Amino acid sequence: MYPDVEVSASSDATLEEFARAVRANQQGLRTSLKPSYDFIVCGSGSSGSVVARRLAENPDATVLLLEAGGWDETAAVTDPLSWPANLGSERDWAFQTRPSPHLNGRSLLWSMGKVLGGGSSINVMIWSRGHKNDWDRFAAETGDAGWSYESVLGIYRRIEDWHGEPDVARRGVGGLVFVQPAPDPGPVAPAMLEGARSLGVPTFADQNGAMMEGEGGCALANLRIRDGKRLSVFRTYAYPYMDQPNLTVLTDALVTRVVFEGRRAVGVDVVLDGETRRFGAGCEVVLSLGAIHTPKVLMQFGVGDEEELGRFGIEVMQHLPGVGRNLQEHALLAGCVWEYEHPLAPCNNACEATLFWKSDPGLDAPDMQILQAEVALLSPEAAARLETPPPADGWSMLPGVVRPQSRGRLRLTGASPSDPLDIEAGILAEPADLRAMLACVELCREIGNSAALRPFAKREVIPGDLRGPALESFVRDAIVPYWHQTCTAKMGRDPMAVVDGALRVHGIESLRIADGSVLPRVTTGNTMAPCVVVGERAAAMIRESQAS
Ligand SMILES: Cc1cc2nc3c(=O)[nH]c(=O)nc-3n(C[C@H](O)[C@H](O)[C@H](O)COP(=O)(O)OP(=O)(O)OC[C@H]3O[C@@H](n4cnc5c(N)ncnc54)[C@H](O)[C@@H]3O)c2cc1C
Repeated sequence: MYPDVEVSASSDATLEEFARAVRANQQGLRTSLKPSYDFIVCGSGSSGSVVARRLAENPDATVLLLEAGGWDETAAVTDPLSWPANLGSERDWAFQTRPSPHLNGRSLLWSMGKVLGGGSSINVMIWSRGHKNDWDRFAAETGDAGWSYESVLGIYRRIEDWHGEPDVARRGVGGLVFVQPAPDPGPVAPAMLEGARSLGVPTFADQNGAMMEGEGGCALANLRIRDGKRLSVFRTYAYPYMDQPNLTVLTDALVTRVVFEGRRAVGVDVVLDGETRRFGAGCEVVLSLGAIHTPKVLMQFGVGDEEELGRFGIEVMQHLPGVGRNLQEHALLAGCVWEYEHPLAPCNNACEATLFWKSDPGLDAPDMQILQAEVALLSPEAAARLETPPPADGWSMLPGVVRPQSRGRLRLTGASPSDPLDIEAGILAEPADLRAMLACVELCREIGNSAALRPFAKREVIPGDLRGPALESFVRDAIVPYWHQTCTAKMGRDPMAVVDGALRVHGIESLRIADGSVLPRVTTGNTMAPCVVVGERAAAMIRESQAS
Protein backbone atom coordinates (compact mmCIF):
# COMPACT_ATOMS: atom_id res chain seq x y z
CA MET A 1 0.00 0.00 0.00
CA TYR A 2 1.20 3.47 -0.77
CA PRO A 3 1.88 5.80 2.17
CA ASP A 4 -0.59 8.62 2.89
CA VAL A 5 0.96 11.14 0.56
CA GLU A 6 0.15 12.26 -2.93
CA VAL A 7 1.45 9.57 -5.26
CA SER A 8 2.90 12.21 -7.59
CA ALA A 9 5.31 13.39 -4.90
CA SER A 10 7.42 10.23 -5.24
CA SER A 11 10.21 9.26 -7.62
CA ASP A 12 9.42 7.87 -11.09
CA ALA A 13 11.00 4.50 -10.26
CA THR A 14 8.92 4.07 -7.10
CA LEU A 15 5.81 5.08 -8.98
CA GLU A 16 6.47 2.60 -11.76
CA GLU A 17 7.08 -0.18 -9.27
CA PHE A 18 3.83 0.67 -7.49
CA ALA A 19 1.97 0.83 -10.83
CA ARG A 20 3.20 -2.69 -11.65
CA ALA A 21 1.99 -3.95 -8.28
CA VAL A 22 -1.41 -2.34 -8.89
CA ARG A 23 -1.75 -3.87 -12.36
CA ALA A 24 -0.74 -7.35 -11.16
CA ASN A 25 -3.04 -7.17 -8.14
CA GLN A 26 -6.05 -5.88 -10.08
CA GLN A 27 -5.57 -8.39 -12.91
CA GLY A 28 -5.55 -11.16 -10.33
CA LEU A 29 -8.64 -9.80 -8.59
CA ARG A 30 -10.49 -9.44 -11.90
CA THR A 31 -9.85 -13.02 -12.92
CA SER A 32 -11.02 -14.37 -9.57
CA LEU A 33 -14.09 -12.27 -8.88
CA LYS A 34 -16.08 -13.21 -5.80
CA PRO A 35 -19.84 -13.65 -5.79
CA SER A 36 -20.12 -11.16 -2.94
CA TYR A 37 -18.25 -8.24 -1.32
CA ASP A 38 -18.95 -6.40 1.90
CA PHE A 39 -19.40 -3.07 0.12
CA ILE A 40 -20.15 -2.23 -3.48
CA VAL A 41 -19.39 1.33 -4.53
CA CYS A 42 -20.85 2.21 -7.93
CA GLY A 43 -18.88 4.95 -9.73
CA SER A 44 -15.26 6.01 -9.17
CA GLY A 45 -15.72 9.79 -9.44
CA SER A 46 -15.10 12.62 -6.99
CA SER A 47 -17.28 11.01 -4.30
CA GLY A 48 -17.04 7.28 -5.12
CA SER A 49 -13.23 7.21 -5.06
CA VAL A 50 -13.30 8.65 -1.56
CA VAL A 51 -15.91 6.19 -0.27
CA ALA A 52 -14.06 3.19 -1.74
CA ARG A 53 -10.72 4.28 -0.28
CA ARG A 54 -12.05 5.01 3.18
CA LEU A 55 -13.92 1.69 3.35
CA ALA A 56 -10.88 -0.22 2.05
CA GLU A 57 -8.74 1.28 4.81
CA ASN A 58 -10.25 -1.45 6.96
CA PRO A 59 -8.28 -4.52 5.80
CA ASP A 60 -11.06 -6.80 7.02
CA ALA A 61 -13.64 -5.24 4.68
CA THR A 62 -13.88 -6.24 1.01
CA VAL A 63 -14.76 -3.43 -1.39
CA LEU A 64 -15.82 -3.63 -5.02
CA LEU A 65 -15.54 -0.34 -6.96
CA LEU A 66 -17.40 -0.40 -10.28
CA GLU A 67 -16.66 2.10 -13.06
CA ALA A 68 -18.28 2.19 -16.49
CA GLY A 69 -15.35 4.08 -18.02
CA GLY A 70 -11.79 2.93 -18.60
CA TRP A 71 -8.34 3.68 -17.24
CA ASP A 72 -7.09 7.23 -16.88
CA GLU A 73 -3.56 6.79 -18.24
CA THR A 74 -3.56 9.33 -21.04
CA ALA A 75 -2.03 12.78 -21.52
CA ALA A 76 -5.51 14.26 -21.94
CA VAL A 77 -6.10 13.42 -18.27
CA THR A 78 -2.68 14.07 -16.79
CA ASP A 79 -1.69 17.26 -18.67
CA PRO A 80 -3.59 20.18 -17.07
CA LEU A 81 -3.83 22.23 -20.25
CA SER A 82 -5.29 19.30 -22.21
CA TRP A 83 -8.58 19.11 -20.30
CA PRO A 84 -10.69 20.29 -23.30
CA ALA A 85 -9.46 17.25 -25.28
CA ASN A 86 -11.64 15.05 -23.07
CA LEU A 87 -14.89 16.77 -24.03
CA GLY A 88 -16.85 14.56 -26.41
CA SER A 89 -14.18 11.82 -26.17
CA GLU A 90 -14.64 8.24 -24.92
CA ARG A 91 -13.96 9.65 -21.42
CA ASP A 92 -17.15 11.72 -21.57
CA TRP A 93 -20.76 10.57 -21.16
CA ALA A 94 -21.53 13.50 -23.49
CA PHE A 95 -25.14 14.00 -22.41
CA GLN A 96 -27.25 16.23 -24.60
CA THR A 97 -29.77 18.57 -23.00
CA ARG A 98 -33.23 19.18 -24.41
CA PRO A 99 -33.32 22.33 -26.64
CA SER A 100 -34.33 25.22 -24.38
CA PRO A 101 -36.36 28.34 -25.11
CA HIS A 102 -34.23 30.09 -22.47
CA LEU A 103 -31.12 29.45 -24.57
CA ASN A 104 -32.63 30.56 -27.87
CA GLY A 105 -33.64 26.96 -28.66
CA ARG A 106 -30.15 25.57 -28.12
CA SER A 107 -29.20 22.18 -26.70
CA LEU A 108 -25.94 21.78 -24.74
CA LEU A 109 -23.33 19.03 -24.72
CA TRP A 110 -23.37 18.29 -20.98
CA SER A 111 -20.12 16.50 -20.26
CA MET A 112 -19.50 14.24 -17.27
CA GLY A 113 -16.42 12.10 -16.77
CA LYS A 114 -16.62 8.45 -17.90
CA VAL A 115 -13.23 7.23 -16.72
CA LEU A 116 -11.56 6.30 -13.44
CA GLY A 117 -11.90 9.50 -11.41
CA GLY A 118 -15.10 10.62 -13.17
CA GLY A 119 -15.30 14.40 -13.35
CA SER A 120 -12.08 14.82 -11.38
CA SER A 121 -10.12 13.28 -14.28
CA ILE A 122 -11.46 15.59 -16.98
CA ASN A 123 -12.30 18.76 -15.11
CA VAL A 124 -10.60 22.14 -14.84
CA MET A 125 -8.99 21.21 -11.49
CA ILE A 126 -10.28 24.17 -9.46
CA TRP A 127 -10.76 23.40 -5.75
CA SER A 128 -13.73 25.46 -4.53
CA ARG A 129 -15.04 24.55 -1.10
CA GLY A 130 -18.43 26.28 -1.25
CA HIS A 131 -19.66 29.19 0.83
CA LYS A 132 -20.11 28.99 4.60
CA ASN A 133 -23.85 29.39 4.33
CA ASP A 134 -24.21 26.57 1.76
CA TRP A 135 -23.11 24.14 4.44
CA ASP A 136 -25.08 25.74 7.25
CA ARG A 137 -28.17 25.47 5.09
CA PHE A 138 -27.50 21.76 4.44
CA ALA A 139 -27.28 21.22 8.20
CA ALA A 140 -30.60 23.01 8.69
CA GLU A 141 -32.32 21.04 5.91
CA THR A 142 -31.14 17.66 7.15
CA GLY A 143 -31.22 18.38 10.89
CA ASP A 144 -27.67 17.00 10.98
CA ALA A 145 -25.01 19.33 12.39
CA GLY A 146 -22.40 17.16 10.67
CA TRP A 147 -23.17 19.11 7.47
CA SER A 148 -22.61 22.52 9.08
CA TYR A 149 -19.78 24.75 7.96
CA GLU A 150 -17.98 24.29 11.24
CA SER A 151 -18.08 20.52 10.90
CA VAL A 152 -17.19 20.47 7.19
CA LEU A 153 -14.34 22.90 7.82
CA GLY A 154 -12.92 20.23 10.13
CA ILE A 155 -13.10 17.71 7.26
CA TYR A 156 -11.40 20.08 4.84
CA ARG A 157 -8.67 20.87 7.34
CA ARG A 158 -8.09 17.17 7.96
CA ILE A 159 -7.91 16.08 4.31
CA GLU A 160 -6.09 19.03 2.76
CA ASP A 161 -2.40 19.61 2.21
CA TRP A 162 -2.56 23.36 1.60
CA HIS A 163 0.45 24.97 -0.03
CA GLY A 164 -0.66 28.59 0.03
CA GLU A 165 -0.44 31.33 2.62
CA PRO A 166 -0.86 29.61 6.01
CA ASP A 167 -4.27 29.93 7.65
CA VAL A 168 -4.28 27.56 10.59
CA ALA A 169 -7.93 28.13 11.44
CA ARG A 170 -9.15 27.23 7.97
CA ARG A 171 -6.58 25.28 5.98
CA GLY A 172 -4.93 21.97 6.83
CA VAL A 173 -1.47 20.74 5.93
CA GLY A 174 -0.16 17.21 5.55
CA GLY A 175 -3.48 15.67 4.45
CA LEU A 176 -4.15 13.64 1.31
CA VAL A 177 -5.43 16.43 -0.90
CA PHE A 178 -2.64 18.63 -2.24
CA VAL A 179 -4.02 22.08 -3.12
CA GLN A 180 -2.23 25.27 -4.03
CA PRO A 181 -3.02 28.68 -5.47
CA ALA A 182 -2.12 28.74 -9.18
CA PRO A 183 1.70 28.43 -9.15
CA ASP A 184 3.65 30.84 -11.43
CA PRO A 185 0.49 32.25 -12.97
CA GLY A 186 0.45 34.04 -16.29
CA PRO A 187 0.42 37.85 -15.89
CA VAL A 188 -3.24 38.33 -16.85
CA ALA A 189 -4.33 36.48 -13.68
CA PRO A 190 -2.76 38.89 -11.16
CA ALA A 191 -3.88 41.75 -13.42
CA MET A 192 -7.47 40.54 -12.97
CA LEU A 193 -7.01 40.80 -9.19
CA GLU A 194 -5.71 44.34 -9.59
CA GLY A 195 -8.61 45.23 -11.90
CA ALA A 196 -11.12 43.85 -9.39
CA ARG A 197 -9.47 45.81 -6.58
CA SER A 198 -9.70 49.02 -8.60
CA LEU A 199 -13.48 48.48 -8.71
CA GLY A 200 -13.78 47.95 -4.97
CA VAL A 201 -13.76 44.13 -4.90
CA PRO A 202 -11.33 42.97 -2.17
CA THR A 203 -8.60 40.53 -3.08
CA PHE A 204 -7.41 37.54 -1.07
CA ALA A 205 -4.42 35.18 -0.98
CA ASP A 206 -6.87 32.24 -0.95
CA GLN A 207 -10.09 31.78 -2.92
CA ASN A 208 -11.42 29.56 -0.12
CA GLY A 209 -10.97 30.39 3.57
CA ALA A 210 -12.16 33.81 4.72
CA MET A 211 -13.23 34.90 1.23
CA MET A 212 -16.00 32.29 1.23
CA GLU A 213 -17.27 33.10 4.69
CA GLY A 214 -18.50 36.56 3.77
CA GLU A 215 -19.04 38.90 0.85
CA GLY A 216 -16.64 37.22 -1.58
CA GLY A 217 -13.66 38.74 -3.37
CA CYS A 218 -11.08 37.94 -6.00
CA ALA A 219 -8.10 35.56 -5.77
CA LEU A 220 -5.88 33.23 -7.72
CA ALA A 221 -7.71 29.93 -8.11
CA ASN A 222 -6.91 26.97 -5.81
CA LEU A 223 -5.75 24.21 -8.15
CA ARG A 224 -5.26 20.45 -7.92
CA ILE A 225 -2.12 20.43 -10.01
CA ARG A 226 1.31 19.38 -8.80
CA ASP A 227 4.58 19.46 -10.73
CA GLY A 228 2.63 20.18 -13.90
CA LYS A 229 0.29 17.19 -13.52
CA ARG A 230 -3.41 16.82 -12.68
CA LEU A 231 -4.26 15.30 -9.32
CA SER A 232 -7.57 13.51 -9.73
CA VAL A 233 -9.58 12.42 -6.71
CA PHE A 234 -9.23 8.82 -7.90
CA ARG A 235 -5.42 9.07 -7.98
CA THR A 236 -5.36 10.70 -4.58
CA TYR A 237 -7.77 8.37 -2.82
CA ALA A 238 -8.46 5.00 -4.46
CA TYR A 239 -5.31 4.36 -6.46
CA PRO A 240 -2.92 4.14 -3.46
CA TYR A 241 -4.98 1.19 -2.17
CA MET A 242 -5.19 -0.71 -5.43
CA ASP A 243 -2.30 -3.00 -4.58
CA GLN A 244 -4.35 -4.31 -1.66
CA PRO A 245 -6.29 -7.60 -1.73
CA ASN A 246 -9.47 -6.04 -0.31
CA LEU A 247 -10.07 -3.36 -3.00
CA THR A 248 -11.22 -4.64 -6.39
CA VAL A 249 -11.63 -1.97 -9.06
CA LEU A 250 -13.44 -2.99 -12.22
CA THR A 251 -13.29 -0.68 -15.23
CA ASP A 252 -15.69 -0.99 -18.21
CA ALA A 253 -18.27 -2.22 -15.70
CA LEU A 254 -21.71 -0.68 -16.30
CA VAL A 255 -24.06 -0.86 -13.31
CA THR A 256 -27.58 -1.48 -14.58
CA ARG A 257 -29.59 -2.18 -11.45
CA VAL A 258 -29.57 -2.62 -7.70
CA VAL A 259 -30.77 -6.04 -6.53
CA PHE A 260 -33.17 -6.33 -3.58
CA GLU A 261 -34.45 -8.78 -1.06
CA GLY A 262 -37.63 -7.18 0.19
CA ARG A 263 -36.66 -3.57 0.82
CA ARG A 264 -32.99 -4.31 1.41
CA ALA A 265 -30.33 -3.73 -1.24
CA VAL A 266 -28.28 -6.90 -1.48
CA GLY A 267 -26.25 -6.44 -4.65
CA VAL A 268 -26.01 -5.03 -8.15
CA ASP A 269 -26.23 -6.18 -11.76
CA VAL A 270 -23.32 -5.13 -13.91
CA VAL A 271 -22.54 -5.47 -17.61
CA LEU A 272 -18.96 -6.71 -17.68
CA ASP A 273 -17.17 -7.97 -20.78
CA GLY A 274 -20.48 -8.08 -22.62
CA GLU A 275 -22.23 -10.23 -19.99
CA THR A 276 -24.55 -9.31 -17.14
CA ARG A 277 -23.01 -10.36 -13.83
CA ARG A 278 -24.54 -10.15 -10.36
CA PHE A 279 -22.47 -9.27 -7.30
CA GLY A 280 -23.78 -9.48 -3.77
CA ALA A 281 -23.18 -6.84 -1.10
CA GLY A 282 -23.01 -8.21 2.42
CA CYS A 283 -23.20 -4.80 4.09
CA GLU A 284 -24.17 -1.91 1.80
CA VAL A 285 -24.45 -0.66 -1.76
CA VAL A 286 -23.37 2.94 -2.42
CA LEU A 287 -24.49 4.76 -5.56
CA SER A 288 -21.89 7.35 -6.65
CA LEU A 289 -22.80 7.49 -10.33
CA GLY A 290 -23.13 11.29 -10.47
CA ALA A 291 -26.21 13.49 -10.62
CA ILE A 292 -27.45 12.15 -13.96
CA HIS A 293 -26.94 8.41 -13.65
CA THR A 294 -27.71 7.95 -9.96
CA PRO A 295 -31.35 9.08 -10.43
CA LYS A 296 -31.55 7.14 -13.69
CA VAL A 297 -30.55 3.87 -12.03
CA LEU A 298 -32.84 4.62 -9.06
CA MET A 299 -35.83 5.14 -11.34
CA GLN A 300 -35.08 2.07 -13.41
CA PHE A 301 -35.27 -0.20 -10.40
CA GLY A 302 -38.45 1.40 -9.08
CA VAL A 303 -37.40 4.25 -6.79
CA GLY A 304 -38.90 7.51 -7.99
CA ASP A 305 -42.12 9.30 -8.77
CA GLU A 306 -44.80 6.60 -9.12
CA GLU A 307 -46.50 8.46 -11.95
CA GLU A 308 -43.24 8.76 -13.89
CA LEU A 309 -42.38 5.09 -13.30
CA GLY A 310 -45.91 4.07 -14.28
CA ARG A 311 -45.44 5.61 -17.74
CA PHE A 312 -42.90 2.87 -18.46
CA GLY A 313 -44.48 0.00 -16.56
CA ILE A 314 -41.77 0.01 -13.90
CA GLU A 315 -42.92 -1.60 -10.67
CA VAL A 316 -42.73 0.92 -7.83
CA MET A 317 -40.51 -0.10 -4.94
CA GLN A 318 -40.54 3.30 -3.22
CA HIS A 319 -42.45 6.41 -4.24
CA LEU A 320 -39.93 9.25 -3.96
CA PRO A 321 -41.12 12.13 -6.17
CA GLY A 322 -37.83 14.01 -5.73
CA VAL A 323 -35.77 11.56 -7.78
CA GLY A 324 -34.52 13.39 -10.89
CA ARG A 325 -36.05 16.72 -9.84
CA ASN A 326 -34.35 19.79 -8.38
CA LEU A 327 -31.63 19.44 -11.06
CA GLN A 328 -29.21 22.33 -10.65
CA GLU A 329 -26.39 23.75 -12.70
CA HIS A 330 -24.54 27.03 -12.57
CA ALA A 331 -24.99 29.29 -15.58
CA LEU A 332 -21.72 30.06 -17.41
CA LEU A 333 -21.26 32.42 -20.31
CA ALA A 334 -18.52 32.13 -22.94
CA GLY A 335 -18.63 35.39 -24.82
CA CYS A 336 -16.60 38.11 -23.06
CA VAL A 337 -13.34 38.08 -25.00
CA TRP A 338 -10.39 40.41 -25.49
CA GLU A 339 -7.62 40.10 -28.08
CA TYR A 340 -4.14 39.93 -26.56
CA GLU A 341 -1.92 42.92 -27.13
CA HIS A 342 1.00 40.46 -27.22
CA PRO A 343 0.01 36.79 -27.34
CA LEU A 344 0.78 34.86 -24.14
CA ALA A 345 0.82 31.10 -23.69
CA PRO A 346 -1.79 29.84 -21.17
CA CYS A 347 -0.41 28.50 -17.87
CA ASN A 348 -1.49 25.71 -15.50
CA ASN A 349 -5.16 24.96 -16.33
CA ALA A 350 -5.55 28.23 -18.32
CA CYS A 351 -8.09 29.43 -15.67
CA GLU A 352 -6.00 30.88 -12.88
CA ALA A 353 -8.05 33.65 -11.29
CA THR A 354 -11.58 33.71 -9.93
CA LEU A 355 -13.97 36.17 -8.36
CA PHE A 356 -17.09 35.75 -6.22
CA TRP A 357 -19.34 38.78 -5.72
CA LYS A 358 -22.98 39.74 -5.20
CA SER A 359 -25.18 40.94 -8.04
CA ASP A 360 -27.31 42.64 -5.38
CA PRO A 361 -25.81 43.88 -2.09
CA GLY A 362 -28.93 42.64 -0.24
CA LEU A 363 -28.07 38.97 -0.89
CA ASP A 364 -26.77 36.81 1.95
CA ALA A 365 -23.83 35.45 -0.10
CA PRO A 366 -22.15 35.98 -3.47
CA ASP A 367 -24.23 34.77 -6.40
CA MET A 368 -21.77 35.55 -9.19
CA GLN A 369 -18.52 33.75 -10.00
CA ILE A 370 -16.15 34.98 -12.70
CA LEU A 371 -13.36 32.83 -14.06
CA GLN A 372 -10.63 34.27 -16.17
CA ALA A 373 -9.49 32.12 -19.09
CA GLU A 374 -6.18 32.68 -20.84
CA VAL A 375 -7.72 31.67 -24.16
CA ALA A 376 -10.65 33.00 -26.20
CA LEU A 377 -13.73 30.99 -25.18
CA LEU A 378 -16.91 31.53 -27.17
CA SER A 379 -20.03 29.46 -27.65
CA PRO A 380 -20.48 28.68 -31.37
CA GLU A 381 -23.52 30.97 -31.45
CA ALA A 382 -21.62 33.85 -29.83
CA ALA A 383 -18.75 33.33 -32.27
CA ALA A 384 -21.22 33.41 -35.18
CA ARG A 385 -22.13 36.97 -34.19
CA LEU A 386 -18.64 38.22 -35.03
CA GLU A 387 -18.02 39.76 -38.44
CA THR A 388 -14.51 38.30 -38.54
CA PRO A 389 -13.33 34.99 -37.07
CA PRO A 390 -12.49 35.09 -33.34
CA PRO A 391 -8.86 36.06 -32.69
CA ALA A 392 -6.43 33.16 -32.48
CA ASP A 393 -4.88 34.84 -29.44
CA GLY A 394 -7.41 36.06 -26.93
CA TRP A 395 -8.34 35.89 -23.27
CA SER A 396 -11.75 35.75 -21.66
CA MET A 397 -13.70 36.68 -18.59
CA LEU A 398 -16.33 34.00 -17.96
CA PRO A 399 -19.35 35.30 -16.03
CA GLY A 400 -21.25 32.76 -13.96
CA VAL A 401 -24.39 32.61 -11.81
CA VAL A 402 -23.66 30.32 -8.89
CA ARG A 403 -26.82 30.67 -6.78
CA PRO A 404 -29.29 29.79 -9.51
CA GLN A 405 -33.02 29.94 -8.87
CA SER A 406 -33.70 27.84 -11.96
CA ARG A 407 -34.34 24.11 -11.64
CA GLY A 408 -34.25 21.37 -14.24
CA ARG A 409 -35.56 17.83 -14.35
CA LEU A 410 -34.54 14.38 -15.56
CA ARG A 411 -37.14 12.10 -17.10
CA LEU A 412 -36.91 8.53 -18.31
CA THR A 413 -37.56 7.77 -21.96
CA GLY A 414 -37.85 4.04 -21.32
CA ALA A 415 -37.34 1.28 -18.78
CA SER A 416 -34.13 -0.11 -20.24
CA PRO A 417 -30.66 0.97 -19.06
CA SER A 418 -29.83 1.79 -22.67
CA ASP A 419 -32.72 4.30 -22.97
CA PRO A 420 -31.28 7.83 -22.74
CA LEU A 421 -32.66 10.35 -20.28
CA ASP A 422 -34.64 13.38 -21.31
CA ILE A 423 -32.60 16.17 -19.70
CA GLU A 424 -34.26 19.50 -19.08
CA ALA A 425 -31.32 21.52 -17.72
CA GLY A 426 -33.45 24.53 -16.80
CA ILE A 427 -30.57 27.03 -17.14
CA LEU A 428 -31.86 30.65 -17.07
CA ALA A 429 -35.45 29.46 -16.72
CA GLU A 430 -35.95 31.96 -13.88
CA PRO A 431 -35.75 35.69 -14.73
CA ALA A 432 -33.70 36.29 -11.54
CA ASP A 433 -30.86 34.24 -13.02
CA LEU A 434 -30.90 36.28 -16.21
CA ARG A 435 -30.72 39.47 -14.15
CA ALA A 436 -27.75 38.14 -12.18
CA MET A 437 -26.04 37.12 -15.42
CA LEU A 438 -26.55 40.56 -16.95
CA ALA A 439 -24.95 42.11 -13.85
CA CYS A 440 -22.08 39.65 -14.08
CA VAL A 441 -21.44 40.41 -17.78
CA GLU A 442 -21.32 44.08 -16.84
CA LEU A 443 -18.78 43.39 -14.08
CA CYS A 444 -16.65 41.30 -16.46
CA ARG A 445 -16.56 44.14 -18.96
CA GLU A 446 -15.62 46.64 -16.26
CA ILE A 447 -12.76 44.47 -15.01
CA GLY A 448 -11.66 43.44 -18.50
CA ASN A 449 -11.53 47.04 -19.67
CA SER A 450 -9.91 48.34 -16.48
CA ALA A 451 -6.49 50.02 -16.47
CA ALA A 452 -4.90 46.93 -14.91
CA LEU A 453 -5.79 44.73 -17.89
CA ARG A 454 -5.24 47.38 -20.57
CA PRO A 455 -1.61 46.34 -21.23
CA PHE A 456 -2.91 42.90 -22.24
CA ALA A 457 -5.84 44.03 -24.37
CA LYS A 458 -5.50 45.13 -27.95
CA ARG A 459 -9.31 45.37 -28.10
CA GLU A 460 -12.50 44.02 -26.60
CA VAL A 461 -13.72 41.54 -29.18
CA ILE A 462 -17.18 40.83 -27.76
CA PRO A 463 -19.78 41.60 -26.39
CA GLY A 464 -19.15 45.38 -26.59
CA ASP A 465 -21.76 47.82 -25.45
CA LEU A 466 -24.94 45.78 -26.06
CA ARG A 467 -28.01 46.83 -24.07
CA GLY A 468 -31.57 45.68 -23.32
CA PRO A 469 -33.08 42.89 -25.44
CA ALA A 470 -29.95 42.69 -27.63
CA LEU A 471 -27.81 41.91 -24.58
CA GLU A 472 -30.38 39.40 -23.28
CA SER A 473 -30.42 37.56 -26.58
CA PHE A 474 -26.62 37.55 -26.63
CA VAL A 475 -26.58 36.02 -23.13
CA ARG A 476 -28.97 33.24 -24.19
CA ASP A 477 -26.71 32.52 -27.18
CA ALA A 478 -23.48 32.52 -25.17
CA ILE A 479 -24.41 30.18 -22.29
CA VAL A 480 -22.21 27.08 -22.21
CA PRO A 481 -22.16 24.15 -19.77
CA TYR A 482 -20.45 24.70 -16.40
CA TRP A 483 -20.64 20.89 -15.78
CA HIS A 484 -21.86 21.28 -12.20
CA GLN A 485 -24.86 18.94 -12.53
CA THR A 486 -26.12 18.31 -8.99
CA CYS A 487 -29.05 17.99 -6.55
CA THR A 488 -31.20 15.32 -8.29
CA ALA A 489 -31.52 13.06 -5.21
CA LYS A 490 -31.28 15.65 -2.49
CA MET A 491 -30.83 15.01 1.18
CA GLY A 492 -33.36 16.34 3.63
CA ARG A 493 -36.59 15.75 5.47
CA ASP A 494 -39.20 17.27 3.16
CA PRO A 495 -41.36 15.24 0.74
CA MET A 496 -38.96 15.92 -2.16
CA ALA A 497 -35.93 14.57 -0.26
CA VAL A 498 -34.51 11.28 -1.53
CA VAL A 499 -31.92 10.57 1.17
CA ASP A 500 -31.66 11.51 4.83
CA GLY A 501 -28.74 13.34 6.42
CA ALA A 502 -26.90 10.02 6.67
CA LEU A 503 -27.34 9.62 2.87
CA ARG A 504 -29.62 6.55 3.25
CA VAL A 505 -32.33 6.30 0.60
CA HIS A 506 -35.68 6.92 2.28
CA GLY A 507 -37.67 3.73 2.65
CA ILE A 508 -34.85 1.42 1.50
CA GLU A 509 -32.28 -0.44 3.60
CA SER A 510 -28.56 -0.80 2.98
CA LEU A 511 -28.53 1.68 0.10
CA ARG A 512 -26.82 5.05 0.28
CA ILE A 513 -26.13 7.73 -2.26
CA ALA A 514 -22.82 9.57 -2.16
CA ASP A 515 -22.27 12.00 -5.01
CA GLY A 516 -23.30 15.43 -6.24
CA SER A 517 -26.97 14.36 -6.42
CA VAL A 518 -27.43 14.63 -2.67
CA LEU A 519 -26.70 18.34 -2.40
CA PRO A 520 -29.98 20.15 -1.64
CA ARG A 521 -28.66 23.25 -3.43
CA VAL A 522 -25.66 23.55 -5.71
CA THR A 523 -22.77 25.00 -3.75
CA THR A 524 -21.41 28.48 -4.46
CA GLY A 525 -18.54 27.62 -6.78
CA ASN A 526 -17.17 24.58 -8.58
CA THR A 527 -18.48 21.31 -7.22
CA MET A 528 -15.61 18.79 -6.96
CA ALA A 529 -14.50 19.67 -3.42
CA PRO A 530 -18.05 19.42 -1.99
CA CYS A 531 -18.37 15.99 -3.65
CA VAL A 532 -15.20 14.90 -1.86
CA VAL A 533 -16.76 16.03 1.42
CA VAL A 534 -19.90 14.01 0.58
CA GLY A 535 -17.67 10.96 0.03
CA GLU A 536 -15.82 11.52 3.28
CA ARG A 537 -19.02 11.87 5.28
CA ALA A 538 -20.66 8.87 3.60
CA ALA A 539 -17.71 6.63 4.42
CA ALA A 540 -17.51 7.88 7.99
CA MET A 541 -21.23 7.23 8.55
CA ILE A 542 -21.04 3.77 6.98
CA ARG A 543 -18.08 2.84 9.16
CA GLU A 544 -19.86 4.15 12.21
CA SER A 545 -23.03 2.18 11.46
CA GLN A 546 -21.00 -1.01 10.93
CA ALA A 547 -19.22 -0.50 14.23
CA SER A 548 -22.46 -0.15 16.21
C1 LIG B 1 -15.37 19.32 -18.09
C2 LIG B 1 -15.62 19.50 -16.62
C3 LIG B 1 -14.97 20.52 -15.94
C4 LIG B 1 -15.20 20.71 -14.58
N1 LIG B 1 -14.42 21.60 -13.88
C5 LIG B 1 -14.47 21.60 -12.52
C6 LIG B 1 -13.51 22.32 -11.76
O1 LIG B 1 -12.57 22.92 -12.27
N2 LIG B 1 -13.65 22.29 -10.41
C7 LIG B 1 -14.65 21.63 -9.78
O2 LIG B 1 -14.75 21.70 -8.56
N3 LIG B 1 -15.56 20.93 -10.49
C8 LIG B 1 -15.46 20.85 -11.83
N4 LIG B 1 -16.31 20.06 -12.54
C9 LIG B 1 -17.38 19.35 -11.81
C10 LIG B 1 -16.87 18.17 -10.97
O3 LIG B 1 -15.88 17.45 -11.64
C11 LIG B 1 -18.08 17.30 -10.63
O4 LIG B 1 -19.03 18.08 -9.95
C12 LIG B 1 -17.72 16.11 -9.76
O5 LIG B 1 -16.73 15.32 -10.35
C13 LIG B 1 -18.97 15.28 -9.50
O6 LIG B 1 -18.63 14.21 -8.68
P1 LIG B 1 -19.59 12.94 -8.57
O7 LIG B 1 -18.91 11.96 -7.69
O8 LIG B 1 -20.95 13.41 -8.24
O9 LIG B 1 -19.69 12.37 -10.06
P2 LIG B 1 -18.56 12.01 -11.10
O10 LIG B 1 -17.25 12.58 -10.71
O11 LIG B 1 -19.12 12.38 -12.42
O12 LIG B 1 -18.44 10.43 -10.97
C14 LIG B 1 -19.44 9.53 -11.38
C15 LIG B 1 -18.75 8.26 -11.87
O13 LIG B 1 -19.71 7.24 -12.05
C16 LIG B 1 -19.45 6.57 -13.28
N5 LIG B 1 -20.71 6.01 -13.76
C17 LIG B 1 -21.82 6.67 -14.18
N6 LIG B 1 -22.78 5.81 -14.53
C18 LIG B 1 -22.29 4.57 -14.31
C19 LIG B 1 -22.83 3.26 -14.42
N7 LIG B 1 -24.10 3.04 -14.82
N8 LIG B 1 -22.04 2.20 -14.06
C20 LIG B 1 -20.78 2.39 -13.60
N9 LIG B 1 -20.22 3.62 -13.49
C21 LIG B 1 -20.96 4.70 -13.83
C22 LIG B 1 -18.92 7.67 -14.17
O14 LIG B 1 -18.25 7.14 -15.29
C23 LIG B 1 -18.05 8.45 -13.21
O15 LIG B 1 -16.73 7.96 -13.16
C24 LIG B 1 -16.14 19.87 -13.90
C25 LIG B 1 -16.79 18.85 -14.59
C26 LIG B 1 -16.53 18.65 -15.93
C27 LIG B 1 -17.23 17.53 -16.65
